[in-house]
Amino acid sequence: MKLILCTSCQDIVRLLIGETRKCHCGCSWGKYMEKTSGRAEIGGDAIPIAMDSNLLGHACWQWRKDNRTSFIPCWTIDPTQEANEVKITDGAKE
Ligand SMILES: [Zn+2]
Repeated sequence: MKLILCTSCQDIVRLLIGETRKCHCGCSWGKYMEKTSGRAEIGGDAIPIAMDSNLLGHACWQWRKDNRTSFIPCWTIDPTQEANEVKITDGAKE
């Protein structure tokens, strides 16, 4: 799962396929490019973040089962190293 963190308002937004989503202040935006590739396009003040969806699902299951907290790793995506994953655009917000 890809998210964006806005460095202006610190809002975190989950990306959706083909639908541009913005943070609370509107300075950051992003979307998944295609359904199957996992590629995303982001812009503005956004920092791309990845989270393992399977681990998140398991953590939610454990929380519902017995309110147990879990550590869920997430990490920033380096677009220069993972150009096939995230494209940073200077284009206008949609
Ligand atoms: Zn913002």
